[in-house]
Amino acid sequence: MKLINCTICGRLFKSQYFTICEDCLEGQEEVNPYKKVKDFLEKHPGANALEVSNATGVPKNLIVKFINDDVISVVKKRS
Ligand SMILES: [Zn+2]
Repeated sequence: MKLINCTICGRLFKSQYFTICEDCLEGQEEVNPYKKVKDFLEKHPGANALEVSNATGVPKNLIVKFINDDVISVVKKRS
């Protein structure tokens, strides 16, 4: 376990895997970028960060951070 800042709210919390705190993971869907992105990717597997950003309104750099931190998984873009 290490102390890290939550990607969404910036709060310091202890986590082994996630970069998002429990409050944000369980937060309201309408205001929760993590849930918006996760829901969109469930419906649109294979979408890239830009497509997700356009569809959800979540900033692209935050989506890229989710992906880089393995907070959400994406199907790799087909070549
Ligand atoms: Zn948080």
